[in-house]
Amino acid sequence: MQLFSTLSRTRETFTVPTDRPVTLYVCGVTPYDTTHMGHARTFIVFDVLVRYLQWQGATVRYCQNVTDVDDPLFERARRDGVQWDELAERQIRQLRADCADLNILPPTFFPRVSEEVGTMIPIIERLIELGHAYVVDGNVYFSIQTDPDFGRMARMGYSELLAIANQRGNNPHDPNKRDPLDFVLWQRGNPDEPKWESPWGLGRPGWHIECSAMSQRYLGEQIDIHGGGADLIFPHHSCEIAQSESATGKRPFARFWMHVGLVWLDGEKMSKSLGNLVFARDALREHHPDAIRWYLLSEHYREDFDYRRDALVRFEQYAADLRQALSVTGGSHSPLDVSRGREDVIAAMNDDLDTPTVLAVLHTMAGMIIDGAKEGRDVSSAQAVVRDLALMLGFTLR
Ligand SMILES: [Zn+2]
Repeated sequence: MQLFSTLSRTRETFTVPTDRPVTLYVCGVTPYDTTHMGHARTFIVFDVLVRYLQWQGATVRYCQNVTDVDDPLFERARRDGVQWDELAERQIRQLRADCADLNILPPTFFPRVSEEVGTMIPIIERLIELGHAYVVDGNVYFSIQTDPDFGRMARMGYSELLAIANQRGNNPHDPNKRDPLDFVLWQRGNPDEPKWESPWGLGRPGWHIECSAMSQRYLGEQIDIHGGGADLIFPHHSCEIAQSESATGKRPFARFWMHVGLVWLDGEKMSKSLGNLVFARDALREHHPDAIRWYLLSEHYREDFDYRRDALVRFEQYAADLRQALSVTGGSHSPLDVSRGREDVIAAMNDDLDTPTVLAVLHTMAGMIIDGAKEGRDVSSAQAVVRDLALMLGFTLR
């Protein structure tokens, strides 16, 4: 199977291992404002990948984290006058329910930062011991100067990297830092935030260390595939690479890096600040989960996606055609052969998960079955093939 890796910027062959599980780590949510269509798209794309690997006989160990210790969560809890952990708990329940309703298989491991701080501390200690991190006044920073390849996946110059980091939570004016791009591994935090004991005093982890720690704990020091939204390439995933490879001495931390394009709404970037988030639960109230899945997979996962509410009607029809094709009764002569379509589906899946092509072929096959049944042809074996492929893609067919 060919997959595009953001690290090498090329397609590479991913050979599905037969003697061990595939290890997959996908960065999850900060539990507030879940589950919007950006989340839904990312998790559906990786759900299709997991299902396709399983369909080929592989076992998948899939870890998806929950960032329940994070500035935006604390800010929202303050604004709404609720406890941060109550807000997180409620939003995690919502995420689980939304994913179940979207027929997304639950990950094998679903750890939360608040329960994994003990996993992070030894890695931070190791980075200090090896000279990759330094302690100032109860805070610990990763020193990017000790990693000559820092930011290699982003392929940008220093000033561009700094500008992006500053937009995404970096404080370049922190007087404790040796370099404005050095990032926090441990911080003392604000008085009204949760704190844990550590060798550097009471505090909490920085944003990036959690994913290095949880992937190592649940999947091992090196993993097959690491995924997430394209907005995580820098700084988050670049910092993960620096921490993990510096701590373990093993390269690469992840063999494949897969990034899902961002979701827009009617031509505008979907964002909290613009207040134009579309939530999965609202879409699910009006639309069949198969129509939503079909729609979100109708563009290639690496492309940005412009979500248009009125577009879903067309995908309702496609999903209905599929159900109809699987319920019609044909005759008994000239059995319909769809093996060519099946081959085309597999070829497209192997071509960096080309789901737009896969779905176009599936729709054609559904049409052939409906027509074949009208002509009295035997469509039973064709239906079995299409049902198998549709389930592999995660359609409920209900
Ligand atoms: Zn992460």
